[in-house]
Amino acid sequence: MSESLASVSYIGATILFILSLGGLSNPESSRRGNLYGMIGMAIAVLATILGPRVTIAALPWIIASMAVGGSIGIFAARKVQMTQMPELVALMHSLVGLAAMLVGFANYIDPAAAANLTSAEKAIHELEIYIGILIGAVTFSGSIIAFGKLSGKIGGKPLLLPARHWLNLLGLLVVIYAGGLFLHTETVAAGMTFLFVMTVISLLFGIHMVMAIGGADMPVVVSMLNSYSGWAAAATGFMLSNDLLIVTGALVGSSGAILSYIMCRAMNRHFVSVIAGGFGTSGGTVVASSDGQPAGEVVPVNAAETAELLRDAKNVIIVPGYGMAVAQAQHTVYEITKLLRAKGVNVRFGIHPVAGRMPGHMNVLLAEAKVPYDIVFEMDELNEDFPDTDVAMIIGANDIVNPAAQDDPNSPIAGMPVLEVWKAKTSIVMKRSMASGYAGVDNPLFYKENNRMLFGDAKKMLDEVLAVLRT
Ligand code: NDP
Repeated sequence: MSESLASVSYIGATILFILSLGGLSNPESSRRGNLYGMIGMAIAVLATILGPRVTIAALPWIIASMAVGGSIGIFAARKVQMTQMPELVALMHSLVGLAAMLVGFANYIDPAAAANLTSAEKAIHELEIYIGILIGAVTFSGSIIAFGKLSGKIGGKPLLLPARHWLNLLGLLVVIYAGGLFLHTETVAAGMTFLFVMTVISLLFGIHMVMAIGGADMPVVVSMLNSYSGWAAAATGFMLSNDLLIVTGALVGSSGAILSYIMCRAMNRHFVSVIAGGFGTSGGTVVASSDGQPAGEVVPVNAAETAELLRDAKNVIIVPGYGMAVAQAQHTVYEITKLLRAKGVNVRFGIHPVAGRMPGHMNVLLAEAKVPYDIVFEMDELNEDFPDTDVAMIIGANDIVNPAAQDDPNSPIAGMPVLEVWKAKTSIVMKRSMASGYAGVDNPLFYKENNRMLFGDAKKMLDEVLAVLRT
């Protein structure tokens, strides 16, 4: 394939990636968005492999690597449970970081990469390598820790080392100093020493940064690492002088940054304070809640009583959370919705921006169950309607319906916008126990007079409710 045909293919792929991002901004067009992305990626890979820069001798290696990587990808995608998606995404980000690091090192030791460069061009090339490895290393180790936290292998509480900001600052200064020395080295061996020093510090920084962030701030970390993985890919594009990789990396990097900003707004948090870490802490100690255990009794109900409340209702709002994903209850939820709607009940879904464990988690589950998009609403669109709602049915959600966020200025989640389910005539919380949610804070909603608790696995309980509704 000639250079010009490869360039045209790259432009085509870029346009498809932009259309893909546009499509993914709305559940209704997201399938189309995914399709554009897949076609764009196929064109990009083919144009690169068949392009002028790849020799025939390299082809078997490339095809063999793609076969191994692709098989692992297909196996992981087929095996992963919906609840494990966030950690799979975090693991994928770590691979982008690792690739950027490896390409950086390979590029530095490849004598052909810097041949025919003027001294100014060589300096720019080495700077690209240095920055590329730096971003790659932070993305790699940070994403591994995020994977550990999201999968529960590492505790969710923030690890706050004494003088942690000073440690970070010291690391940054050493990285800048080593970078200055790196750009002035004559030999590859000397340069490698500085690259290694910087890589170790960047890896430690990635670990430290994500370890210090905890509780309900994790959504921002996930989208932030998504953004970093984009910048790591863009840096790789600069190293390899590949325009498509630069553009694609920048698209992922900037969309991830915008998403992080949206998530911060959804949680009423400042980006800088999230990155600085220490969610839910005061003076370095993690606090459970301002006034300890909320006092009061809870009112348990059974499936038959729940079905009765739903049958008598005119307006119902369903609020799904992480527990619905765990229980895989979305299909039963939709069966109940269809039944109630057939009886003339106005049933709508209220989606919190950080419900579940990844952005759009609930929308994906509801789309999988074929819930029509026109009855799925965002938090802001529904919050005013709770006072006119007969039943708010909360399925495996906790933090996103916690009134302490509004009522208790000392609560670790104070100021986070929440779905005001307690304003409905009756709220029913479905969960297995009195355990707290991801942020680890108590929920006074459970003790409110108009709240009922339906204890048990969400799928099992909803199956029972459905059976009663069908009689
Ligand atoms: P929460 O984690 O606050 O609560 C989920 C609840 O579901 C738990 O209290 C649990 O209670 C219940 N549950 C678990 N399994 C089941 C089951 N099988 N059946 C019934 N209930 C079940 O989830 P929310 O969706 O309310 O809030 C999301 C939280 O996750 C927020 O704190 C958010 O910041 C955080 N987060 C969000 C991310 C995102 O991008 N969306 C990423 C990372 C974190 P019990 O054990 O008693 O059953």
